[in-house]
Amino acid sequence: MQTVAATVARAREVFDSGTTRPLAWRLEQLRSLRRMLIERRREFAAALADDLGKHETEAQLTEIGFVTAEAAHLEKHLEGWLRPRPVSVPVAVQPAKAWTELTPLGVVLVIGPWNYPLQLLLAPLAGALAAGNTVVLKPSEHAPATSAALARWIPEYLPGAAEVVEGGIPETTALLGLRFDHIFFTGGEAAAKVVLRAAAEHLTPVTLELGGKSPAYVDSSTDLAKAAKRIAWGRFMNAGQTCVAPDYILATEEVLVPLERELVKAIAALFGSDSAQSASYGRIVNDRHFDRVAALADGSTVVHGGERDAASRHFAPTLLRPAPGDAVLGEEIFGPLLPMVPVSGRDEAIRTINAGAKPLALYVFSNDAGTRRAFSEQTSSGALCFDVPAAHLTVPGLPFGGVGNSGMGAYHGEHSLRTFSHERSTLSKPHWPDTLELIYPPYTKAKHRIISALVAPAGKLAGRKNRKKRGEA
Ligand code: NAD
Repeated sequence: MQTVAATVARAREVFDSGTTRPLAWRLEQLRSLRRMLIERRREFAAALADDLGKHETEAQLTEIGFVTAEAAHLEKHLEGWLRPRPVSVPVAVQPAKAWTELTPLGVVLVIGPWNYPLQLLLAPLAGALAAGNTVVLKPSEHAPATSAALARWIPEYLPGAAEVVEGGIPETTALLGLRFDHIFFTGGEAAAKVVLRAAAEHLTPVTLELGGKSPAYVDSSTDLAKAAKRIAWGRFMNAGQTCVAPDYILATEEVLVPLERELVKAIAALFGSDSAQSASYGRIVNDRHFDRVAALADGSTVVHGGERDAASRHFAPTLLRPAPGDAVLGEEIFGPLLPMVPVSGRDEAIRTINAGAKPLALYVFSNDAGTRRAFSEQTSSGALCFDVPAAHLTVPGLPFGGVGNSGMGAYHGEHSLRTFSHERSTLSKPHWPDTLELIYPPYTKAKHRIISALVAPAGKLAGRKNRKKRGEA
């Protein structure tokens, strides 16, 4: 794929020219990215409606406005975050000055999924540009209208700074054969393994933003009506095709019965009595996923919803009461199905969660401090949210990412800048006074005493003092 190689070579040439390093260039790119999103918002909103039936307001909230806010946040704080950070110098190395500085990595490859096809390419792009890199974007082939819109506008607003390579597996494979300085991948586990293997060939550092099953535990101490509305919003936004959507509910049978009633009311409040008629409700991305979601629903027990139309790929918000072993409990749903799973209480809920892969997000709807503490102390997940799903993404100070099977690395705000930078250690030691003379060979007894005093015993003493403080032998 000659053109792919030529595109990456262009990005490398721009980076090597050194133009991307100054703060002014970085700020200009962030401003230009924002300008593109503001001036072309109609084109992007139309593309998102085309690909996913996304309502213009949802597109603004979760895609266009989201990235605009992220870029503005980076612009506002960038200068401060880029300031060198002084580090104290141990006596043995003094006199000297030490500091760290965030330096650009080079050419970054961003590979995106189809479900938030704009946000999940352009939010990493903002971070990578803020860090002074050039970027190659690979949009998902399953959101073709958004991919085309990005290929149309990125070169106009970010010439030289970002390149777009459209396509599917062949084009991504060609890209992965080339050397990058960082690969930022959002998508599923299978493709993540392909990316990680390819990155190993060049020892390229990788960020993986993956998915999985994000549980929601609900108990009777919470406001069930409010919890149901928030869960329904998080689950059925973008027709359930959201990586951080609550994937299934864990609750006691006494909670599940009233919660199911409240969820039915919440679905009606959000999307009316017939979601097919609601402009606020999205569509399944393609026939393959439509059939997959339909098979999951049909392989379980539907207690609400289940209506569908293959031609328009509308699939109604659906509540399930699965039996153990149903496929819907095994794989990430990534569609508008919400299984409700009975447990005896929070301990069984924690055991169930810990028996599976580490979730991208874990949601706990409870007013009980002990329950909140138990989930916080006894589980592991990319994020833990109390009483609200998905909203942690919008807090730029919170690193967004998974753990274990749900991903590695994180981004957003300053975390993006750090992900796309190398924190370089710098040390500067004056020639005078030349304290190194005290430790250069040839070694003598006097030098041995000096080195011992400067280095090892101090550490040992501090250790003993601390042990004494803790009351240990
Ligand atoms: P996917 O893994 O199928 O595709 C992601 C990207 O990888 C696409 O650009 C695709 O072209 C490319 N790709 C796919 N297979 C490939 C292969 N064999 N070789 C090379 N490239 C390949 O994912 P998807 O279906 O687009 O997205 C759904 C998944 O993404 C879900 O698991 C979801 O949870 C996850 N996701 C995670 C986040 C997050 O932020 N953590 C956000 C959205 C989606």
